[in-house]
Amino acid sequence: MQTLIRQPKSDVAERPFMIIWETTHACDLACRHCRAEAIAEHDPLTLKFEEAKRLLEQVESFGKPRPIFIFTGGDPFKRDDLFELLAYGKQLGLIMAVSPSGTPLLTEANLRRIKDNGGKAMSLSLDGSTAERHDDFRRVPGSFEWTTNGWRIAREIGLKLQLNTTVTRYNLTDLPNIFRLVTEYGAMTWSLFFLVPVGRGKAEDEISPAEYEAVMHFLYDCSKYVSAKTTEGHHYKRVILQRAILEEKGLPWQDYFQLDPMYYELRAALDQIVAEKQLVAREQIFRTPMHINAGNGFVFISRRGEVFPSGFMPLSAGNVREKSLVEIYQDTPLFRVLRDPSQLEGRCGLCEFAGVCGGSRSRAYAVTHDPLAEEPFCTYEPGSFPFQEELAAYLS
Ligand code: SF4
Repeated sequence: MQTLIRQPKSDVAERPFMIIWETTHACDLACRHCRAEAIAEHDPLTLKFEEAKRLLEQVESFGKPRPIFIFTGGDPFKRDDLFELLAYGKQLGLIMAVSPSGTPLLTEANLRRIKDNGGKAMSLSLDGSTAERHDDFRRVPGSFEWTTNGWRIAREIGLKLQLNTTVTRYNLTDLPNIFRLVTEYGAMTWSLFFLVPVGRGKAEDEISPAEYEAVMHFLYDCSKYVSAKTTEGHHYKRVILQRAILEEKGLPWQDYFQLDPMYYELRAALDQIVAEKQLVAREQIFRTPMHINAGNGFVFISRRGEVFPSGFMPLSAGNVREKSLVEIYQDTPLFRVLRDPSQLEGRCGLCEFAGVCGGSRSRAYAVTHDPLAEEPFCTYEPGSFPFQEELAAYLS
């Protein structure tokens, strides 16, 4: 039986699988949904070079297997010491990736310096399939060109590339066209970010819960052709399990869901691209997602050193200037409770998928101010999937 949802190899109560550091607030873009509400200027209270080195040492002290450490922003290229910090992380043996913005700083020289200083991967954001669509979202003309150019260079020089697309009502119907670009340029993975209304992300930009479901089924279809995943869309793992079980049984899967018409629109566009490009579907999905969630295998450090369960949940459990990251992650009540699925409330608390899903804790917090509340954008009624025995076999 294929493992459909991967669990981190080491105990997530001991060490996170992924650590994200907001290197700076500064960025030359002004994206509609920016979590960090980035602006052009640096925040004077940002961790300084020596403090950032101490942070990297704290990351190293989690031991092996090493968490993946990601330099994000703002735009990490706006930090003068980015490459020195990468080199220091390399010396410490860290596994590192960089998440730059699509600006003129995305040059071949800078991408090579990421690689030469120990960066293994990078991620880029593309929210529209054309310059008109993407630049409107990012609110700076030229961003599409800089981003796709950076994408091409990353592939050429052998940096692993994750492409991120934030799903909003502005680009919902454009997703198949972005899929087309992923098949053309190639990517280690395509990650759909489901909007959390924090920072400049606004609730009115969100798609509906029924459209979430439609997009997740569409993404499952795409996963037969490219490696794809979700960020802050945890119930995609539930969709994967449901679809895989129905496929195994050879059942007409669409009869088991009442999907929004948006699914059929997205699916028709996907089918057209598949036919045009003569893509061949795999029997099983390309990439099986990892079960990590805010504070549970995942931790975010703000530019000022505050430790949050995720970048979309600005609830501080301590500051790395005062306390070690290891201690904050392992021992604070906020992180402990987020790792305990029995504490989940509402439908998530009753749900048979909670052990691999648990809903977006960040969205629950953004919408209700309770990080343990049920995922407000999941439509599933716990216990309603008819093949519970088969599901239990996957979950055991
Ligand atoms: S109810 Fe909660 S745990 Fe269950 S599938 Fe939905 S989001 Fe996941």
